[in-house]
Amino acid sequence: MVSRVIPVDDFDLVIFGGTGDLARRKILPGLFRRFMAGQMPASSRIIGAARSELDQDGYQKEVAKALEEFLPKDARPKDQVTAFLETLDYVAIDAMGEGGWDTLSKKLRPDVIRAFYFSVAPSLFGALAERLHGHACAGPSCRIVVEKPFGRDLASAKELNKTLRDHFDERQIYRIDHYLGKETVQNLMAVRFGNVLFEPLWNAQHVDHVQITVSESVGVDGRGAYYDKSGAMRDMVQNHLMQLLCLTAMEPPSRFDPDAVRDEKLKVIRALDPVDPDDIVRGQYTSPEKGKGYLEQVEDPNSRTESFIAMKIAVSNWRWAGVPFYLRTGKRLKARNSEIAIVFKEVPHSIFDQDEARHRNVLTIRLQPNEGMDLSVTIKEPGPGGMRLVDVPLDMSFAEALGPDAEDVPDAYERLIMDVIRGNQTLFMRGDEVEAAWAWTDPLIKGWTERGDRPVTYETGSTGPEEAAMLLHREGRRWREIKP
Ligand code: NAD
Repeated sequence: MVSRVIPVDDFDLVIFGGTGDLARRKILPGLFRRFMAGQMPASSRIIGAARSELDQDGYQKEVAKALEEFLPKDARPKDQVTAFLETLDYVAIDAMGEGGWDTLSKKLRPDVIRAFYFSVAPSLFGALAERLHGHACAGPSCRIVVEKPFGRDLASAKELNKTLRDHFDERQIYRIDHYLGKETVQNLMAVRFGNVLFEPLWNAQHVDHVQITVSESVGVDGRGAYYDKSGAMRDMVQNHLMQLLCLTAMEPPSRFDPDAVRDEKLKVIRALDPVDPDDIVRGQYTSPEKGKGYLEQVEDPNSRTESFIAMKIAVSNWRWAGVPFYLRTGKRLKARNSEIAIVFKEVPHSIFDQDEARHRNVLTIRLQPNEGMDLSVTIKEPGPGGMRLVDVPLDMSFAEALGPDAEDVPDAYERLIMDVIRGNQTLFMRGDEVEAAWAWTDPLIKGWTERGDRPVTYETGSTGPEEAAMLLHREGRRWREIKP
């Protein structure tokens, strides 16, 4: 299979926070990979803008170091790195002050696509937006990219939306949720809407339940102070898991275009029922190792913030009536493993006498590791011994199916940045979607805060608290294994 890389048009991309962690770890290595793939034109320019007093040469050296740190040696041929560094420029700028803005304005070219990546704290968004306009950097065709967190509740998200919309149209605002840039997540749409096979089964008549798991093996190490102010619900569920749920549950959009897709996702969020407190399990990890338990890694030793959450959610519409969506996410779990599993119902009647096990088809969309999908189907166990049934996977790993081309599959950030340049908002969250997600999240957080609920504990390296297992057991179901 030969992959086709279509170069984007010439662009100027300004990265505010161009010396920060996100820029060094994700944005710049991602741009370099697109440059290597021939997708980023060599005439394009990336302008780092941050507080550090650097010049162009100094910034190029910084970025060279970041590429060394975050890309394997064979993924950064010297001549390509040199050519990529040529595209970089830098302006020392203070979002809150006036210095540097005129210089930036002069560096921008008039007739190319212009994008501004706000890779800085959200408290700076307003100041950046004002100065971009005040110094004639921003026009009606430019784009801005903003990062998570998009607010910490409905009120702050509305405030942030207002700040951005005071200066930019919604069609200029690209709110990144990097989960939407993952190859498999888009494949979920391709599989559902590009095949005749699945969509007829994609409903309450045939689906028993859905499980969405995003499990991490790392803890909050070093980020405890920040994390403790948000917790798994704000940090993961309100955005990433919610997006995965929307793509799984949404109706087919009439076209694969940004607003058609986002309209359907919004309808899912609006169809979510409030969650019963008995259907929520929140946990904090403990550790036999000193200093490694959650409460030892955050400032408040009495913190009630959750590092794990599992919940049962109902999507109240015709398609999903009675089908539970089980979500779980947490830190310091057994393995780093993320997937969406559609668990189908059993056959209505088994004709095989000797078959005592319950067999179900499961479609699994693996986000990490080893992105891909598999569909478990029931077959006859080979060999003599009568008609015994066994479940085997029909496996589609991208790495195997696409061969060497799979290595060129862009990672989430690369793809999303190229989408910004192409002006395609399909994989970005719209303002009303984010607000609807907070409107559903807020009462849940308020509920457990007012009740004074304490998270239960779970051991580092486990699959989460026992109570989370019970959430499914009590209904005769079980979580899928978190495989290392
Ligand atoms: P960071 O602290 O590493 O970097 C911040 C950057 O902002 C630096 O380049 C700094 O010079 C610049 N900056 C700070 N104040 C400034 C000012 N007044 N004017 C101009 N520039 C200023 O932060 P980060 O980890 O890179 O995160 C950036 C944003 O991305 C944050 O909003 C964060 O929540 C979000 N984010 C980060 C990650 C991640 O993995 N790092 C992941 C998701 C979202």
